[in-house]
Amino acid sequence: MKDGSDLDGLYEKIRAGRVEREDAIFLGRNPHYLFCIADELREEKNGDVVTYVVNRNINFTNICVNTCKFCAFREEKDKGYLLNMDAILNKVEEAVNRGATEICIQGGLHPNLVVEDYCEIIKIIKTDFNVHIHAYSPMEIYHIAKNSAMGEEAVLKELKKAGLDSIPGTAAEILDDSIRAIICPKKLKSDKWIEIIKTAHRLGIPSTATLLYGHIESLECRIDHILKIRDIQKETGGFTEFVPLKFMRRNNELGRMVKRPISLFVDAIVHALARVILHPYCSNLQVSWVKLGMSDAQKMFYFGVNDIGGTLMEENITRLASSASTTREYMSPEDLEQVIRDAGRLPERRTTLYGRE
Ligand code: SF4
Repeated sequence: MKDGSDLDGLYEKIRAGRVEREDAIFLGRNPHYLFCIADELREEKNGDVVTYVVNRNINFTNICVNTCKFCAFREEKDKGYLLNMDAILNKVEEAVNRGATEICIQGGLHPNLVVEDYCEIIKIIKTDFNVHIHAYSPMEIYHIAKNSAMGEEAVLKELKKAGLDSIPGTAAEILDDSIRAIICPKKLKSDKWIEIIKTAHRLGIPSTATLLYGHIESLECRIDHILKIRDIQKETGGFTEFVPLKFMRRNNELGRMVKRPISLFVDAIVHALARVILHPYCSNLQVSWVKLGMSDAQKMFYFGVNDIGGTLMEENITRLASSASTTREYMSPEDLEQVIRDAGRLPERRTTLYGRE
């Protein structure tokens, strides 16, 4: 148990961005103190503004050679789909007509696609539309490199030349190889994820950072993961935001292994810990309304969150692994703004890189 002077010392460390593993474990086990500080830091950095981006997800293929145990999205080649360019362009056009400024493109790991195919998608969209392309996770970059007999850096350079603006920091899951060996044994290792992200940042391609929580990981694993993200951010400054992603239990093998769903209380601890550990290096903490549902997502505004995942317009990965009754695929900007106002906060539409529209 810490006394008053210990808590003063901890408070100074938090303010200076020097939270250590043991401090974070203490905070995770003393959430009242954690929650107060997370809310204070959020208010100081972001005021009462909660931002959102008008975006559209396009999952261009569900064919995937990987076998992550939490995935309800992937299909074998003979059962899955691969969108053609007309279908992709129709989706982009529909999104732009609804005000989207960002197109987020991710898919399964298709066995036959090479770097030219991935570049082609970006180039054709960029030819017709003035939108930010947020595409291809580090796992996809790794896969493209393998399929194209190239290094990951060369792949990133080609994608950037084609018009890639930023990449999703998905596939991080939890940066602990002993857990990855159980939940996604064929996914790239932690060090590779970190290497690809740092390379992207060095090439001027920013990314988000994510954490998959609520499966078989411990509090300590979550903390170690966030500390790794902080180290990268201190070095590169390339993360736009941190996004905790709650594990969805339905229709997947990992869900059958995890007996108890995690509570709203744990959601709050995870979000608040991220705010406190990442302070002052990462100012933006996003809640995913697709994962938490809108009501619980609103509550996270009181535990360090200053951004809510975008309008999306299409969401397949979470929908397939969760209860249909709690999962929507689209929130209009008006709906999202009302949700933010209903929670007592001020909505602001942002660009992908946190400029204001
Ligand atoms: S999570 Fe992604 S990489 Fe893993 S099986 Fe599903 S689609 Fe494939």
